[in-house]
Amino acid sequence: MNIGILGLGLIGGSLGFDLRSQGHYVLGVSRQESTCQKAIALGNVDQAAVELSLLAAADVVFICTPIGLIVPQVAQLIAHLSPATILTDVGSVKAPIVKAISPLWDHFIGGHPMAGTADSGIEAAQRNLFVDRPYVLTPISTTPTIAITIVEEIVRSLGATIYHCHPEQHDRAVSWISHLPVMVSASLIAACLSETDPDVLQLAQNLASSGFRDTSRVGGGNPELGVMMAQYNRPAILRSLQQYRHNLDELMYLIEQENWTELEKKLHSTQQARPDFVE
Ligand code: NAP
Repeated sequence: MNIGILGLGLIGGSLGFDLRSQGHYVLGVSRQESTCQKAIALGNVDQAAVELSLLAAADVVFICTPIGLIVPQVAQLIAHLSPATILTDVGSVKAPIVKAISPLWDHFIGGHPMAGTADSGIEAAQRNLFVDRPYVLTPISTTPTIAITIVEEIVRSLGATIYHCHPEQHDRAVSWISHLPVMVSASLIAACLSETDPDVLQLAQNLASSGFRDTSRVGGGNPELGVMMAQYNRPAILRSLQQYRHNLDELMYLIEQENWTELEKKLHSTQQARPDFVE
């Protein structure tokens, strides 16, 4: 199959590696000529260019640009495609993207590989990035079966585990397990910095160990990604934050009341629930 990739960065470049190793012919388009040259030299793609017209020969195109550019780039790309071309994207938020692209292109199915690293750009691309990782597909009632089947086949060949859900369900789910943690973790770091005694703050910084490393990791990550999550998944993240604030209030109330029995019950139930998420 001829497979196109628009946006040769971490995700696009990693897809290119694996699709080529499956025997597909991979056509890459990126913004910068230097990235196209690197992608050819590194082996992510068979051919690359900055012109969208290169993707006219593709049977399936993966849109892998930064999230804010997915819809504008698709709007420009479709002039170059034949109507049977299947489009899919890899954006980390689904509802606004599916809502905007579905009226523009019949053969479109939203997708989100739940895989990545802290790095970005073509040089960060890795082979086998998607193996044993969840890959969410978000077909809607009008999505043609052929688009679902073909994209599923490709995703399965990457070694990923496929999940289907509605775009809104996806956005609510990732809000709980990905976007809320970033905001909570950022708030934790900010709260620690509000310590007014410089000696205490310094002592806390010296004493911080594995617990703080775990809980502060995602709050200490790339600020642009955090802003994108908030911007593109605003309703779901606000809802999650409101619920989180409610849970914090409950914990504060129990501590104020010295209600150690109830507090222990709460912590016991979270202890029991955690493996359902991470094991
Ligand atoms: P990335 O490493 O920054 O790659 C994006 C690439 O898109 C850039 O390297 C850039 O290439 C290219 N680009 C920028 N503007 C473009 C344009 N107008 N036309 C064509 N190409 C353009 O980002 P990423 O982490 O791969 O993320 C890409 C997408 O994957 C995002 O939508 C994100 O939500 C999604 N995603 C990311 C992760 C993750 O953990 N990183 C996980 C799942 C999904 P140039 O070098 O040519 O400028």
